[in-house]
Amino acid sequence: MRYRRLGTSGLQVSELSLGSWLTFGKQIGDPIAEKLMKTAYDGGINFFDNAEIYSRGDSERVMGKILKKMKWPRDTWTVSSKVFFGAGGKLPTQVGLHRKHVVEGCNDALNRLQVEYLDLFFCHRPDKNTPIEETVWTMHQLIMSGKILYWGTSEWSAQEIMEAHMVAKQHHLIGPVMEQPQYNMFHRAKVEVEFDQLYKTVGLGTTIWSPLASGILSGKHTLDGNKSSRLRMAGLDWLRERELTAERLKKVEKLKGIAAKLDLSMPVLALAWCLKNPHVSTVILGASKVEQLKENLTAVDAQDQLTPEVMGRIEKVLDNEPVRPQF
Ligand code: NDP
Repeated sequence: MRYRRLGTSGLQVSELSLGSWLTFGKQIGDPIAEKLMKTAYDGGINFFDNAEIYSRGDSERVMGKILKKMKWPRDTWTVSSKVFFGAGGKLPTQVGLHRKHVVEGCNDALNRLQVEYLDLFFCHRPDKNTPIEETVWTMHQLIMSGKILYWGTSEWSAQEIMEAHMVAKQHHLIGPVMEQPQYNMFHRAKVEVEFDQLYKTVGLGTTIWSPLASGILSGKHTLDGNKSSRLRMAGLDWLRERELTAERLKKVEKLKGIAAKLDLSMPVLALAWCLKNPHVSTVILGASKVEQLKENLTAVDAQDQLTPEVMGRIEKVLDNEPVRPQF
């Protein structure tokens, strides 16, 4: 494993990390979740990602039990939660980024994960109904109270992140350190263009999600989705419809050729491609099987095979380089 600084913070996170969306407490049983976490930890992963909304709190409960059972020293791993969507309740007091829900969401996540503090705490989406000052102050106070160590955002715009920094600066508060955006071969603009200034000005770190576009970049799918995958799970039609297109599958077929020439599997090529971006602090992996995770862990070494010439060939196939503003 290799490690990268989380933006300009001093915290070093493993280049690959493990997330639990749709898997823990839902698609997979707890014994598999345990094996995944053990494989990850043994492979040098030091960051486990979670959120209050994942399986309505069950994902955190499962992860918390495993962390407790494993008894890994607390100073060898980091864990996150995210607040905004709530853990099931939909009343206005139970969702959002106002002080009440952020504080209660944090306390509930600490209980479910059975930890004394969260290493990373994310605002899962921007909240149009709460003044940014209220959220920034609350996050700062949670850090001061020792309940969280770093705070960040997820799927915020560059402007929203900058506003949070300006408020923090004005009041001498601790601003957001990291953003959690989607980033993969099919979804590039935010990380490659929109955040460009933020890497320079505020030293933004990124913990990127869905590096395989929910598994499509693994190369195992046909247009109706692979039978035993999340894309065929009940209630996830929206995900299949959004992610699985004929155009994408065509590109994946071509990319498989590039992977084969390098003696890499398709998922490993796609993950290594994410790692080639220096603004990515950690690539959050998802896995429903231990074999998948073991395979994906090899992406750390595989990134060395993605020379500028190989990256150029990939770019030609993708044909989706985000346009940079010309000024
Ligand atoms: P991916 O896009 O990498 O999808 C992971 C899924 O792809 C696996 O669960 C598995 O699904 C399939 N897969 C993974 N590896 C392989 C392989 N080697 N061969 C074949 N299939 C494979 O990541 P996720 O979408 O899971 O996102 C990762 C994490 O990011 C989440 O767990 C979560 O922590 C975070 N996240 C954050 C969001 C946010 O808004 N902040 C939103 C979404 C995710 P299957 O076996 O079912 O096909």
